[in-house]
Amino acid sequence: MSNKESKENCIFCKILSGEFECSEIYSDDTVIAFLDIQPVNPGHVLVIPREHACYLKDLDKDVGGKLFQVGQKVAEAIRNSDLKCEGVNFLLADGEAAGQEVWHTHLHVVPRFENDGFGFKFSEKYFEKPSREELNQVAEKISKKI
Ligand code: AMP
Ligand code: ZN
Repeated sequence: MSNKESKENCIFCKILSGEFECSEIYSDDTVIAFLDIQPVNPGHVLVIPREHACYLKDLDKDVGGKLFQVGQKVAEAIRNSDLKCEGVNFLLADGEAAGQEVWHTHLHVVPRFENDGFGFKFSEKYFEKPSREELNQVAEKISKKI
């Protein structure tokens, strides 16, 4: 494990231990949820496991399920609040290439509304749809590893 991945250097573990402050939304024995310090939109929440798992592969799958369940509850709470929310994105960056910056797995729950300035960027090749044969070949590569 590299230095950046260690529990000792983990911002979120410091939040869990109370060393760093957070604006908490929800807490139970397995996960906690709090506001992102640099929100895409007001109400942007992070749901994190209490266990220090750098990547998804390190996370117990039941805890992964719990992360999603709490994400669902949080999304519903945001929608029922008076925060501006016309839609919600769940985002989980697993690995640096996917945009991960904090090495403690976390689920972003992001309230969205029209013209909020956030969005996804697609490369040119995205617009050339693959054939069914190509899709099937890729599907096989994944399915045989499940
Ligand atoms: P990611 O790029 O998916 O690893 O996202 C990391 C997120 O953690 C970013 O959206 C940061 O704004 C957020 N973040 C970093 N430090 C803190 C902190 N101390 N409290 C709350 N959110 C944080
Ligand atoms: Zn951690």
